[in-house]
Amino acid sequence: MQNLPLKGKIALVTGASRGIGRAIAIALGQAGADVIVTDLLIENEEIPHHDLENYSALSAYFAEKKQINTLATCEFIRKSGVRSMGLKMDVTKEDDIVSRIDDVSKSFGHIDILVNNAAVMDGLGLLEKQTTRTFERDLKVNLTGAFLCSRAVWPTMKATGWGRIINISSFTADSGAFAQPGYCASKAGMLGLTKTLALEGARYGITVNAVLPGFIATEAVNLYSEDMKERICNRNPMKRMGTPEEVAATAVFLASHQAGYINGASIPVTGGMELLVF
Ligand code: NAP
Repeated sequence: MQNLPLKGKIALVTGASRGIGRAIAIALGQAGADVIVTDLLIENEEIPHHDLENYSALSAYFAEKKQINTLATCEFIRKSGVRSMGLKMDVTKEDDIVSRIDDVSKSFGHIDILVNNAAVMDGLGLLEKQTTRTFERDLKVNLTGAFLCSRAVWPTMKATGWGRIINISSFTADSGAFAQPGYCASKAGMLGLTKTLALEGARYGITVNAVLPGFIATEAVNLYSEDMKERICNRNPMKRMGTPEEVAATAVFLASHQAGYINGASIPVTGGMELLVF
């Protein structure tokens, strides 16, 4: 029981086909939870080539490379002896979210743990070159997506008197990041959302917290140039990036009963990169 702190709980992770989301989904399963793995992309789905332009550059890149692991992640999680289901779910589409969560409730049971991880992070552009479309897309996926998913699971969490919402924000919510106005605004907005839901949820046994990863060596970040990766590691006191598993361990702790009195917190998983480094 000690090793399976989430036994009997049902978790849903957004944007879990790869990277941090995938690692969180796997870690939740290893901690005993049944896991719903959701993503914008799912294997065996034919995306017409001309449609790729409607996806973020990163989604289009991984779709073209056929590196989509939504169902494969479920298969991996089931090896831990828990149930797992993979679903295509676009966090910007409210109807999609509501109907998927309804389906899950019927076949799996109600969701106890929600991890808002889905994000776009390729909207690079200095202010004068940043398009309104990209800025609004960043807010829509990263911030409104977390709002919509939280609202969809809220009634059952309230009714059962227990729930965990974990928002994967970013250290850039505090620091800002050059040429990423939409991304940083969305991640800072997530902190306001986290605190507000934490206040509202407390009386119903729902805690809401944010995790602020630093640079984490995911498939997406591994696409950076070698020079960029070296600069990132050099300005970190640990001289390395974090791993997706290190972020996942924090999410699992926040989901557990042991974290029951942590509410409205923003927890950095950065290796201390915000500290003064000479
Ligand atoms: P990633 O590999 O790009 O993963 C993001 C996931 O979100 C992808 O699987 C993507 O799906 C999915 N997604 C995008 N738009 C979606 C939508 N509309 N609906 C559903 N899913 C959608 O990024 P990562 O590096 O693992 O980062 C994961 C989280 O950590 C993000 O919230 C990110 O902001 C945060 N973070 C990461 C770092 C880092 O250094 N890696 C640092 C700070 C914060 P597709 O399969 O369609 O592409």
